[in-house]
Amino acid sequence: MPEEIRTDGMKQQDKKPDDNMKMPKFSEIEYKRPSVEKFRECAMSTRLKLMAARDPDVVETAVMAFQREMSAFDTAFTICMIRHDLDTVDPFWNDEMDFFDENYPIVSDLSAGVYAAMLHSEIREELEERFGTMIFRKVQNQREIVSSEVLEDLAKESSLENDYSQILSEADIVFKGKHQTLSTMTPYLESTDREVRKKAHKAVSDYYTAQKEKFDEIYDEMVKIRTEIAHKLGFKDFVELGYKRMERYDYDPEKVKAFRDSVVKYIVPITSEIRRLQKNRLDLDALKYYDLPCLFVHGNPVPQIPKEKYFETGSKMFGAMFDRDPSFFEVLGEHDFMDLFSRQNKATGGYCASLLDYGIPFILMNANHTADDVATMVHESGHAYAALRSIDSSQFIECLSPTLEACEIHSTAMEYLTYPYMEMFFEKYADAYRQQHMTLALLFLPYGCLVDEFQHVVYSNPEMTKEERHAAWRELEKKYQPDIDYDGDPFYEAGGAWMKKEHIFTSPFYYIDYCLAQVCALQIWDISRKNRKKAMTIYEHLCAAGGTRTLIDLVESAGLESPFSLDVMKKLAYQVCDYLNL
Ligand code: ZN
Repeated sequence: MPEEIRTDGMKQQDKKPDDNMKMPKFSEIEYKRPSVEKFRECAMSTRLKLMAARDPDVVETAVMAFQREMSAFDTAFTICMIRHDLDTVDPFWNDEMDFFDENYPIVSDLSAGVYAAMLHSEIREELEERFGTMIFRKVQNQREIVSSEVLEDLAKESSLENDYSQILSEADIVFKGKHQTLSTMTPYLESTDREVRKKAHKAVSDYYTAQKEKFDEIYDEMVKIRTEIAHKLGFKDFVELGYKRMERYDYDPEKVKAFRDSVVKYIVPITSEIRRLQKNRLDLDALKYYDLPCLFVHGNPVPQIPKEKYFETGSKMFGAMFDRDPSFFEVLGEHDFMDLFSRQNKATGGYCASLLDYGIPFILMNANHTADDVATMVHESGHAYAALRSIDSSQFIECLSPTLEACEIHSTAMEYLTYPYMEMFFEKYADAYRQQHMTLALLFLPYGCLVDEFQHVVYSNPEMTKEERHAAWRELEKKYQPDIDYDGDPFYEAGGAWMKKEHIFTSPFYYIDYCLAQVCALQIWDISRKNRKKAMTIYEHLCAAGGTRTLIDLVESAGLESPFSLDVMKKLAYQVCDYLNL
């Protein structure tokens, strides 16, 4: 599945560039380390102004000036993060990342102080009328998840997250006599030659076995520090804090549990059928874990164009889809706001991150000439499109983009809405691509729920030993992936597979968002088959709303059903089975 970590909002209205303003090239944007002192002064003076103000105009002027400071700080951070991720061994960007690890929590705390003054303002009602209530909900939430007492712990937490990512990005696996990254191993992992994929999986499992002790240590420290932060902030455990951090305004762990249960009930049986058919197609006696990525006997469909042509083809596709020439995708690419190909010392995965000051999103991914390249490119482009589309949705940078599950609808729905254009990449294999994509989407739902339930178990029981965590994962695998056969591989048999999932380390409780988004995106897919125009209207509505609504409110305002509706899961399971001829 395409993965993504950050889709912040865009820029402030009052900084909208006029039409003549030249769009910069990413490589030409100057980076300067921001001053925390200057930020502190601005925060303090804004706070004083807000505390004394009786006039909403005065508040608005002060808050907007403060928003510019925040936007500048965040933009510097984003530039730094991207440049670091493009060359993870450059010591300059490593130092700069350390600076942000240490100082971003301070800046968040200062801004929480500013907003607290807004929350407690004597003219709050007038302010809510002017700014809308969403910013106040967000600010209240922010107040609960940060305090000066936990700043050091937060810096420690980020630094542990970086340690994990750094180790992964430096992965060097020698396979077939060549140095490989985890990402360039993918084509071997899904090879049609069973011996090749078996050896490739062994090489990856050996890599993780060698890192196991380090990763266990890092995660153990993470669980302890996150629990400690939760306790200091007055929460029962990190589950409570995790939900607050993910800004879950209109659902709780019980609703999420019911969602997972319905996946077990309606989706897991379909995945068993998918695996049974796969075993027959591949003509195997038993489907082993290393066979799972190879869905078709002649191999998974790969793009029929060289990867050097992805950009040109993507530009044409989005141009046709949105009836715009040049397309947003082409404009971003021509200004270096994307880096598509895998290479040594580049961060793994893919994401879209926005430079708030410029109002421009950046796409980073690791194309390695597999079908996933196209899905990821389209996915990240969905985030980028939404970021551009919501540019005027709020005067607050905090309200430009919605909570992360809703962001994942933008990207996942884009994967489905581009189905009719897949011939441009896959030619006569486009149908195979669509079948594979839909199959993976279905297989993903139980996996996503597994990752989610694992984290609930871990953070509800922070005293668990490392071994107990591995055992818990292995037990949960049996519920969500009952057909998996690890063929005696000791790393997986002992419950090690969770270590491969970066989100478990770096983005706690994020993973269910992909599942919730999937259920919304599948509704858009289903509508698009009967009424393309209606599906596009829903999509535009979702993107243009930015971060002005909570998840359920947003989804329902677009005319979709809540992902927590049990009926919707049942209905989609039926439609998808029909589409896949199951
Ligand atoms: Zn995404």
